[in-house]
Amino acid sequence: LNLTERDQKVIWHPYTQMKNALPHIPIVRGEGVYVFDEDGRRYIDAVSSWWVNIHGHAHPHIAQKVAEQLRILEHVIFAGFTHEPAVLLAERLLPILPGKQTKVFYTDNGSTAVEVALKMCLQFWDNKGTPKTKILAFKNAYHGDTFGAMSVSGRSIFTDAFNSLLFDVEFIDLPNDDNISRLTSHISSLTDTACFIFEPLILGSGGMLMYEARHLDALIGACKKAEILTIADEVMTGFGRTGTYFACEKLAHEPDIFCLSKGLTGGTMPLGVTTCTNTIFEAFLSDDKLKTLYHGHSFTANPIACVASLASLDILLDGQTLQNIKRIEAKHAAFLEEIKTHTKVKAVRQTGTIIAIEWQTGNETSYLSSLRNLLYAYFLDKGIILRPLGNIIYILPPYVISDEDLDYVYASIKQALEEV
Ligand code: PMP
Repeated sequence: LNLTERDQKVIWHPYTQMKNALPHIPIVRGEGVYVFDEDGRRYIDAVSSWWVNIHGHAHPHIAQKVAEQLRILEHVIFAGFTHEPAVLLAERLLPILPGKQTKVFYTDNGSTAVEVALKMCLQFWDNKGTPKTKILAFKNAYHGDTFGAMSVSGRSIFTDAFNSLLFDVEFIDLPNDDNISRLTSHISSLTDTACFIFEPLILGSGGMLMYEARHLDALIGACKKAEILTIADEVMTGFGRTGTYFACEKLAHEPDIFCLSKGLTGGTMPLGVTTCTNTIFEAFLSDDKLKTLYHGHSFTANPIACVASLASLDILLDGQTLQNIKRIEAKHAAFLEEIKTHTKVKAVRQTGTIIAIEWQTGNETSYLSSLRNLLYAYFLDKGIILRPLGNIIYILPPYVISDEDLDYVYASIKQALEEV
């Protein structure tokens, strides 16, 4: 049996267990923007493998730091003990986050970073003696697969099977010029809402739906007045994706909490963090044991993952990466300008290094639409990994992608517009 057949016998993959799913391609190696399969076939990873590999695959600097750390300390319990990589990462991360974030709470991935954030907010109000139980989130939001994260995710395909078990969440429309005053006055009227969680500027899994910073600012401002804590889920947007290191740099208001993962380790190791302001942290400082945040995973603050993050930050902050980000931004904009009037293009969107192209379809726009599968297979055949969200294709490349490879991806999309 080949690897695909052996895989089929024993592995349950995420999302792709449907009967009509394509066989899983065995990947044996990664380098820069490419991954290679068993037969030596090369694929351009145009989506940074679920949006994580910001510096591409097998980056030598990260590989070296991880290998060194493996010989020094691979893991240690993080309750009652600490280590240099965890402290150093927090010391380097907090100053580059917008606002005055003062504490880092370590966890394993994006979903659990969100779980921690929600627990912090709900327990914050409880600890203060004024419990609040409701949560505000956006329609079409995606914050992860665990129960709390599912509760605040407004995409029914991910949550329908569990609806009766989820938290009390109110989903609001994305803000625009027409609805912003209605939304802010609604928020002002809320009294039992503990927090508002949002993906700043772009709802990723919801279809790369983009909205303006000034509108988000207005919503956060209304939350502050109504004493609703705010959680910026920068799991996708963090670490340069939107053209600045963090999407919230474009805001005047500071969120109370940030959730980070994906690009945090440059996509090399699973790690997540939830950061918060002093106001939040202090609500948990007490002699009363019940006021502690009882949350901690076995692999919390894994030293290897922390070192991978430090190495990834070295690259992100080296100056060259920001230039690459600007280069990709400009090329993306020129490409969208070129295709936006094509008859098969319904809409185009861009924020920083992320672009989305909405395909004109009849009525079929569902996540599992046949168009989606056609496009996915079409680009694989061209040696490009693009995973459409329904009728929306998007590019979210590693920052090291060359002009030549970007041009090849653009040319393939133009060809697809003619052929698919
Ligand atoms: N938040 C956002 C904005 C995300 O895009 C994702 C993952 N797509 C998550 C949270 C969940 O992260 P993870 O898959 O690492 O649990």
